[in-house]
Parts: sequence; structure tokens; C-alpha cells
Amino acid sequence: MTPTLNPAPRLPFPYRPEPEVLAALLRQLQGRLDWPGVIAQARPWVQAVRDKPAPFWALESLLREYPISSSEGLALMRLAEALLRVPDAETAIALTADQLGRADFDGEGGPAEGPHKMLAQISASAIALSKKFLPESENPPGLFQRLGSRTVVAATVRAIQLLGRQFVLGRTIGEAMDEAATQRKAQARLTFSYDMLGEGARTEADAERYLASYRNALRAIAGGRVATSPMAADGISIKLSALFTRYEDAQRERVAAVLLPRVRALVDEAAAANLNLTIDAEESDRLELSLALFEQLAAHIAATHPQWQGFGLAVQAYQTRALEVVDDVARIAREAPCKGGLRFMVRLVKGAYWDGEIKRAQEAGLPGYPVFTHKHHTDASYLGCAARLIEHHAVIYPQFATHNAGTIAAIVQMAQQQGAAFEMQRLHGMGEGVYREVLAATPVACRVYAPVGEHRDLLAYLVRRLLENGANSSFVHQLADEAVAPEELLASPLDAAAATQAAPALALPVALYPDGRVNSTGIDLACVAQRAPLEAAVAMTHIAPPPMDTPADVDTTMQRLHHGFEAWHARPLAERAAMLRTAADALDARLPEFCGLLVKEAHKTLGDCVAEVREAVDFCRYYADQAEARLAEQALPGPTGERNVLRLKGRGVFVCISPWNFPLAIFAGQVVAALVAGNTVAAKPAEQTPVVAARFVELLHRAGVPADALALLHGLGETVGAALVAHPHTAGVCFTGSTAVARLINRTLAAKDGPIVPLIAETGGLNAMVVDSTALPEQVVDAVVQSAFRSAGQRCSALRLLVLHSASADGVIEMLKGAMAELVVGDPALLATDVGPLIDDEAYAGISAAVQNLERQARLLGRTPMDSAAFPRVLAPVAFEIGRIADLKAEVFGPVLHVVRWGPGQAAKTVDEVVAQVNALGYGLTLGVQTRIDTRAERIAAAARVGNVYVNRNMIGAVVGVQPFGGEGLSGTGPKAGGPHYLYRFCAEQTVTINTAAAGGNAELLAGLA
Ligand SMILES: Cc1cc2nc3c(=O)[nH]c(=O)nc-3n(C[C@H](O)[C@H](O)[C@H](O)COP(=O)(O)OP(=O)(O)OC[C@H]3O[C@@H](n4cnc5c(N)ncnc54)[C@H](O)[C@@H]3O)c2cc1C
Repeated sequence: MTPTLNPAPRLPFPYRPEPEVLAALLRQLQGRLDWPGVIAQARPWVQAVRDKPAPFWALESLLREYPISSSEGLALMRLAEALLRVPDAETAIALTADQLGRADFDGEGGPAEGPHKMLAQISASAIALSKKFLPESENPPGLFQRLGSRTVVAATVRAIQLLGRQFVLGRTIGEAMDEAATQRKAQARLTFSYDMLGEGARTEADAERYLASYRNALRAIAGGRVATSPMAADGISIKLSALFTRYEDAQRERVAAVLLPRVRALVDEAAAANLNLTIDAEESDRLELSLALFEQLAAHIAATHPQWQGFGLAVQAYQTRALEVVDDVARIAREAPCKGGLRFMVRLVKGAYWDGEIKRAQEAGLPGYPVFTHKHHTDASYLGCAARLIEHHAVIYPQFATHNAGTIAAIVQMAQQQGAAFEMQRLHGMGEGVYREVLAATPVACRVYAPVGEHRDLLAYLVRRLLENGANSSFVHQLADEAVAPEELLASPLDAAAATQAAPALALPVALYPDGRVNSTGIDLACVAQRAPLEAAVAMTHIAPPPMDTPADVDTTMQRLHHGFEAWHARPLAERAAMLRTAADALDARLPEFCGLLVKEAHKTLGDCVAEVREAVDFCRYYADQAEARLAEQALPGPTGERNVLRLKGRGVFVCISPWNFPLAIFAGQVVAALVAGNTVAAKPAEQTPVVAARFVELLHRAGVPADALALLHGLGETVGAALVAHPHTAGVCFTGSTAVARLINRTLAAKDGPIVPLIAETGGLNAMVVDSTALPEQVVDAVVQSAFRSAGQRCSALRLLVLHSASADGVIEMLKGAMAELVVGDPALLATDVGPLIDDEAYAGISAAVQNLERQARLLGRTPMDSAAFPRVLAPVAFEIGRIADLKAEVFGPVLHVVRWGPGQAAKTVDEVVAQVNALGYGLTLGVQTRIDTRAERIAAAARVGNVYVNRNMIGAVVGVQPFGGEGLSGTGPKAGGPHYLYRFCAEQTVTINTAAAGGNAELLAGLA
């Protein structure tokens, strides 16, 4: 029977206020630390390290010279991240030239400062080092040799390889163990924890490869023997994201079914050999899941290897729930179902993904941050957790992983006071100087975290370490900077926390926008407390579509709105804006209810629903602010004796026609923009989604918008929509939908007598993503899967055409195929579902026919496997390779991706040809670009005739006021929704000029006032 992973939360809410959490941690430390004693112990270590500075090629030296905050440091980091994976010489040269800021490396001269000086130094040190350390035969074949004539590029490649070598113990486990043996000759008590490098698995094949390499490493370390103690022996560290493609809270059942047995197999190997196996800590939204897994594994260990004490977990002190994690692990050990319980190892780290955690919380509009926002809060938390770990030493063997001399001294002090056994840990290639001194001064055990892997697998890890070493706040960075006095370097984080009153260093996600606009509230779907109201609302929601209106209803309504215009228009701008804000607050508060409607009526997945409600809230607040900032009366300059003002006014009755794919956000955006500009509005939602629109209209009415300023008309486009557009009182039309219908509306408007009526049309796209061979395949695949298949491809922004560089295309396609195989299709109400159904039978039939066509004409690359009874109208995501960009003729509004190659020998040979051919398709909505060559990204953006360009990310989910959305050509008229120019289009303009000197003369001038 497959075990289940209990979804009940065991930790507190992840977004508690920082000061509250910190207070509990500080209480933990009361009277426990003699900080002057810490300084006294650590100061000589700092001094000794500074007295023996690192050699010029060491990372510390390089980063001191070129900090990551400088353009040189950034270039170094970008090259380190990308250069070694580029398979073709031309692109490698282009990337190096781009990052080092010089187009022609073979040219003469050039300034001796900045990037050029850095290049010279890196190259010089690379060449010197390679002569010194690397035997001739080790010169990597392929790229290095092919670039031989381009000595600078070759040297840069070599420099990056050497940089990487500082952090990798060996390319294979055998090589790493040999190196470990060498290091043990100098420092006998060293132990190692090997880490098999790589990105998280995107395909099942990747996951199986990682599983095999962990198993192989364990066998190699064990060497057929049983170690006397895991504390004294080497071990391994594993990343759960490497062992399963979908290590996510939303996929608990699959995690239990697939990942758990894999980890159990490794646990069995490690236990049989009595070695240490530690699970690395990853992102905060996996924390609860990792503990649920840990508990299951503990039950297994209790049943099979109760004597084994080598099972471990890394705990991140920067998480606001760190202390509770420590307690939970201790509880699991004590309550393990075996005599005397279990004993675990816990590696306490500060946390490696701080920047990513902050970004995720801001993007998702979460109620707070799951991590501390001050470095000294993390330091204090580390010490608080350390104190608690030491208290639990009967059931936990604490392993303190840090390079910070102050933290180390504090740990040693606390542990020695309690007489607890513990070990210190450092990363290979970091903290060597400090630990040389620590180990000379105190007899502590020390374990080295030792990455093992090839150059290509190293890159992401290398960049993490560069960031860590280069960050101004980091200890290793400050240690290398003589300008930072030892007292400052070793200052007490507890005093610092008291000085800042524990107040957070960053504005909360809700207060993200500097202009004071309140950000919409999001939901962390990995947090049970946050998603429970949503799931309850979905379960309770039933949809009962209203009856359709008739053309006769249209006329009555238009007459009413026409008469309502004067009164609505006369309302002060501030009142109209206030109504929008009231509606926004109400919608924000009723997010679960509206998500329920979206799931049931539009068949959207939970994540898509949350994003859509947020977008609608943002539209209301943004247009309220924009109206007040831009539509207020403006005084204009002129001659004396005259006053000039410019006024923006509503036009009359605006007809807003919106689609079913964003039945709330697009509907709301159109309606509130038209209203706040002073128009009355006849709103016609798509016939498939009238209920959510009606509920939003109710909300606006309740916020104060009168019934004769806003009316909802439900019906078909051909009848109700057509009657609205043709009506004589229609003063403007705002439409989102297909290009064909937009043309129809345009023609109807043009055929009318009377005033020429403006049309704002947002239509479809044949959206491309251009990928070159510097892009990281994992990032590309993530972005492609989200952009092409989220919302079942039913977004006008969705990716339709993936254009891959021929040098890296095969690898990307293979990975994409594997990632598509891991998607979950089915019922959108379920958290686990990635791709829900198509909107209706007609759409299903049309897209199925398009797919059948492609099956005949194109090469099938991959398709998500699907149970035929999965859910009505679900179409499996599918990808086809086509010959040329021009072969893409029409928008297929579903989860269907076309792939084409560019590069030597292809129809588009250069990136400029790619862009020209994409432009020639005539649409112009969104474009994705995946490249590490910054100048290339800029050139593509400049040449592309599209409304929204997204570089190195997905290309959907435009945020109001952040990425104003809308295109050109066949994709729409503009102006962009959610942008600063949108409201103007809903307005008529009036200039009023008053001759103030008319009544006999210019009194102001004569009085000296003008
Ligand atoms: C043996 C070993 C194993 C490791 N395993 C893992 C692991 O499994 N998972 C993992 O995530 N990391 C892991 N790390 C990395 C670790 O989390 C730290 O990134 C790294 O050790 C730097 O911390 P420090 O104490 O050495 O340096 P310090 O310079 O004292 O601390 C730097 C750390 O402070 C925190 N920080 C920086 N700025 C801020 C801020 N503004 N607000 C709040 N906090 C901030 C960050 O966590 C940053 O990494 C491991 C480290 C070691 C040594």
C-alpha cells in the first residue's frame, strides 16, 4: 500500500510578523551567550586569515577586485553561469564579447580599465594557472580547441573552469574521494558529505540518473564495509528535487508514490553501511512537505534500522519557522515507533535562496515573507536554533554549517557549556582560512560539503556561491575586506536586532509599489491555512447561468445608460475613483468566492483563478489612481489675460465586450476603465461566462456605481453584441477577442452614420519564444511549459511557436518532452491539476481538428499522457516540429505548441532573420527571448513588432501597472490595458480658454500678480 503524506500543517503560519518571531528566538538565547567572549575567541581567527590573504586567483580575491555589484563582477557571474554550456563556438564568442563589453577580441588596443582589465587579469591568471595545475592532456576538447584562434575566449572558458574547480572536489565520486584522502593527510579529522551536482530534475530520466548517481556514491563511500559511526564516516547530501520532477506540495500523492520509495532505497543503502545521509533544504514552499516525508522515512527507519543514527535533514535558519522545524524533528525522533526512539543528524544552515524567496513572495502578493529580511535576524535565528538543537542533543546530533567566524565562536561556546557532541561544516572551496584557524584552536569535528560533478552541472551551484561570496552582507566578503574592522565583522546580531527593533527591512508584498498603490492579495497554495477557504468555496459553488437578453433589451438598456450619462459624468472624479477602490477591497476580501466561480464557470485551475482575481483587483486600484493622476483638469500656459485649461471627459455610453478566457479580469478592466473616465457602460460578457461577470457588476453597484451608469447584457455576440455595437447611442467600443470579430465590429462602426466611434481592440497572437544556445535548458523548459500549456493554452499571450537554436535544440526538445510527460491534466478544481479542460465543445472540436492536421503535416515531438476518461473536454498538451516559421498560419487557441529550429542550415539562419520572419506573421502580441547575451536580447526587443517582450522568463501573466498588456498589428489597436495611456482612449478632450481681460482690462497684470 502506498503511504500517504499527511497534509495537516505541523508548523506555524509561514508569514507571521518578523518581530513576533524574532522575539521568541531571542528569548531562547537569554543569558546563554557571552558575546565579548565570542569576539575574544573569533578575533584572532579573523586576524590570522587576514594576515595570510588568499592567492590572487582565489575567488575571494577576484570578488574583492570585481564585486558582484560592479559591471565587471556581474559579467564574471554571467559568464560563469552560461559560458561552459554553450555548445557552438559562434555563440560562445558572442556571449563573451557581450559580457566583456567588446565586440572584437582580436582587435588591437582598447582601454586598460573596466571589463578589459578584468578580462586581461582573468585570462592571465587562467593561463598561468592552467600551466601550473593542469596537465596538457586535460585541455578540454571541442569548444576550447575550436576556439583556439580566439585566445581570449578560450582563456575565459578556462578561467571559468578554474573558478568552478575551486568548488568541486572531483568530477566523479572516485576523483572526489581521492581528493578527500589527500586533504585528510593534512587534517586527519576531516569528514566529507558528497553532493552530486545538477539542476532539479525536469524529466523522469534525469531523476533516475540522479538516483543512480547517489546510490553509486553511497556504494563507493561504503566500499563494502560498515562504518563504525556515521559521525566519523563520510556520507552524502541529497536534493529531493533531483529525485523527482514534481517535488511540490500540490503533488503530495505522487511524491508519496514515486519520491518516497526512491529516498527509502537510498536510506536503506546508507543505513546498511552506517553512513550519514542528509536531505538538503530547498525552497520554503517545500518545507512542510519535506517534514512529512521525513516523518514517513523515520517510521521506515524505526522499523528496519532503529540503531542507525546517520539520517539527517538540513534546517534553514533564515526561515521564520526554523525553531519549530528543529522541535518537530526532535519530536519525530522521540516519537519514532521503536524502543528508545531514533537519533537524527540536523545540519543547521542559514539558507541559500534568500533572494528567490523574497521575489516569490512579492510576485505572489503573499501576506509576508517566509524568511527574515535582515541579515542579523537570520544570524540571531541561527543562534536561537543552535541553542535549541543543543538542548535536543539526546535525539539530535547537531551539525553547524557556517563560514562565519562569529557564528562559529558562539556555537562552540554554547555547545561546550552544555557538553554536547556536535560538528561544524563548511562548503568545499569556502571558509578554508577560518576553519584552518578554528581547528587549530579548538578540537571540533569538521565536515566538508563536497560537490561532485562535471563542469556543466556545476554552473548553477557556482553562481550561488559567487552570489554568496560577493554579497556585501556576507561574512566571507567582509572578511576579505580590510576596511571592515574586526569589531564590526564580529558585532553581535542580537544587539543589531535590538537596535532595529526587529522591524522588517523590506516593505511587505502588499506595500510593494512605491506610489502607494496597494498590491492585490495572493495566496500561497502550498500553505493549507491559505488554500483551505479557496477549496471550501470551490466545493460550495454552483453555477446557474441567467437568461439571455434580446436585442430589444439592448435598446431599452442603451436608452437608460444614455440618460444616465450626464449624472454619472457630473460625479467628481474622486468619487468615481473611490467607488473603484471600494470594489477592489471587496473583491480582494472575496477572493475565494470569485475563485469558486472561475473554477466552476470558466474551468480554470486554482492557481489561474487566484492570479485572475488579483488582476481584477489591481485593475480597479490602478485605474482609480491613474484617473486621479491623469484625468484631472490641467492648467495650460498662455499669454497674460487669458486662462487655459484642458479637461478630459467621458464620451457617453461605452460598450465593453469581453472574452471567456479572462471572464473576470478582462471584463473588470474594461468596465472600470470606462466608468472611471466618466462613461456609462453597457457590458457584455462572453456567453460562456456570464455569472462571474454578473457577480462583479453587483459588487460595483454595491460600491456605489448607479444602475443607470452600468448595465450587464447577457447574450450571444451575433445578437446582443452586434446590437450593442450598432446602436446609435454607442460612443465607444472596447473589445477583447478574436481578430476576426474585431474586424467585424470595426466594419459595423464604420458603416454607421453619425459620429465616428472609437474602438479599442485587443485580439490574438502568434506568439514566439526565441531561444539561443546560451539559455539554460531547464529555465527554457519551465518557461515553455507555463507559457504554452497553462490555462490549457487559452490565453492570447500564450506561446505558440518555440524557435530553438539548432545547436541546443535536441537537448531542449528532449527535456521538454520529459517535462510534458509529467504534467497532470484533468479536473481544474483539484490542486494537483496543471492543465484543465477547454472552454466548450466547439473549442474542443476545433482544436482537436487542428491537432489532427498537425499529426499529418508535422513531426510529433511530445504529448502529455492522459487517461481518456480524465475529464470532459481535456486535450492533452502536445508539441509538433514544423519546418519554417512561415508554416504557422493561424492561432490554435489551446495547449498546442509548434517548434522550429534556427541557425546554420535552417530557414532562419540568424536571430535577425528569426525576428523578421516572426514579424512577417503579422501579429504582434507577446515575444519570449531566452539568452544570456544582453545585447542580443535588446536587439531582438528593438526589432520585434510586438507589445510585450519577456526576457528569460515565461511570457504570460502580465501584471497591471508593471507590464501593461496589449499588442500591435493583427493583435490589437492599443493602448495597453493596465498601462498609463489606457484611460485617455475612453475620454473626449476639451480645452476651455477664458479671456480674463474681457471685462475692461487685465486687472491681474496691472496689480502685479500675473
Ligand atoms: C555544509 C553546508 C551545507 C549547506 N547546505 C545547504 C542546504 O541544504 N540548503 C540551503 O539552503 N543552504 C545550504 N547551505 C548554504 C547556507 O545556507 C548559506 O548560504 C551559507 O553557508 C552562507 O552562510 P554563512 O553562515 O556561511 O555566512 P553569512 O555571511 O554569515 O550568512 C549569509 C547568509 O545570511 C542570510 N542572509 C543574507 N542576507 C540576508 C537578509 N537581508 N535577510 C535575512 N537573511 C539574510 C542568507 O541565508 C545568507 O546565505 C549550506 C552551507 C554549508 C556550509
